[in-house]
Amino acid sequence: MEFLKGTKIFKVNDSNAILECSNILREGGVVAFPTETVYGLGANALDSKAVKRIFKAKGRPADNPLIVHIADLKQLNDLVTKIPKEVKLLSQKFWPGPLTLVLKKEDVVPEITTGGLDTVAIRLPGHDVALNLLQKSQLPIAAPSANLSGRPSPTTAQHVIADLAGRIEAVIDGGPTGIGVESTVISLVEEPPTLLRPGGITYEELKDLLGEVDIDSAVEAEIEDENRLALSPGMKYKHYSPDAEVLVIEGQRTKIANEIMTLTDQYLEEGLNVGVMATKENSDSYTKSQVKVMGNRSNLMEISSNIFRLLREFDEMEVDIILVEGLSTIGLGLAIMNRLRKAAGYQIINV
Ligand code: AMP
Ligand code: MG
Repeated sequence: MEFLKGTKIFKVNDSNAILECSNILREGGVVAFPTETVYGLGANALDSKAVKRIFKAKGRPADNPLIVHIADLKQLNDLVTKIPKEVKLLSQKFWPGPLTLVLKKEDVVPEITTGGLDTVAIRLPGHDVALNLLQKSQLPIAAPSANLSGRPSPTTAQHVIADLAGRIEAVIDGGPTGIGVESTVISLVEEPPTLLRPGGITYEELKDLLGEVDIDSAVEAEIEDENRLALSPGMKYKHYSPDAEVLVIEGQRTKIANEIMTLTDQYLEEGLNVGVMATKENSDSYTKSQVKVMGNRSNLMEISSNIFRLLREFDEMEVDIILVEGLSTIGLGLAIMNRLRKAAGYQIINV
């Protein structure tokens, strides 16, 4: 175990890590830990004071609700007023895993945890460290992503440390996370169930299991009509963003490559330092800029595991503008494009 600015950094194989961190959580502290999606910043979900410390450490707006993590399905009974029939189907198929269910909350869940809503978002994560911590502490743990609000989500302990050292009690370093984008959020308070945020479990998988699934209008705009998307007012805020300007170029694969080459020339002429987040298939086209490969177009899991890390790496290289190749929104592509478009503040070029 080492210390940085007062934050304890545990290696995952440190036999004290789980016990010490669960003690910190039980005493009202905040601890960052790996999950299968991204690193989470956890606190006792039922302790308002502890949860307030998450918001403070991240600089997160108070109306942005947190996801409550549990280790056992039985914990649901204490946290929600009603368990709709879909819970059984979804939990059997996707838990432990990257799926979050929004349900009517019990009074024990404080409003700060739910951003003032009368619903609570719950997930049973598929990662040993997260599950061990939940079991050892015997607490439901509220945990958003362990980054400063607005920054790219953390997929390594080093990302957490870069953002939060000195602001949190501890972090457990479990290496890079697998999926790399956050959980899928589905509301079971509405009929039919409604997809609120695309993530590690795909919309197609949910529909296969449940039959009818609505898509929240903000997410819907990302599937169909790019023009509407670019104009949609509620979407004009940045999230998951590096310091550099981000631009997403969407369309047919070879047209994307041509457009990125043209834009690169323009920006270089303006004296800017250009980075390209490329797919493997196109990456050889970009000879004049800094290039980072997200992965193969046919391997969306590879791409999702890399995008947040690459955005952070481009910041370290001090590029001024990052040109990102768009992908289709099928399967995991919907979650990937949701994060990339938000990182770009919805600055999208269609070719
Ligand atoms: P984060 O953990 O930082 O990825 O953020 C958690 C996200 O979960 C929020 O930004 C919401 O999109 C979603 N969420 C959490 N609680 C609720 C809720 N009660 N109703 C709807 N969405 C929620
Ligand atoms: Mg987040």
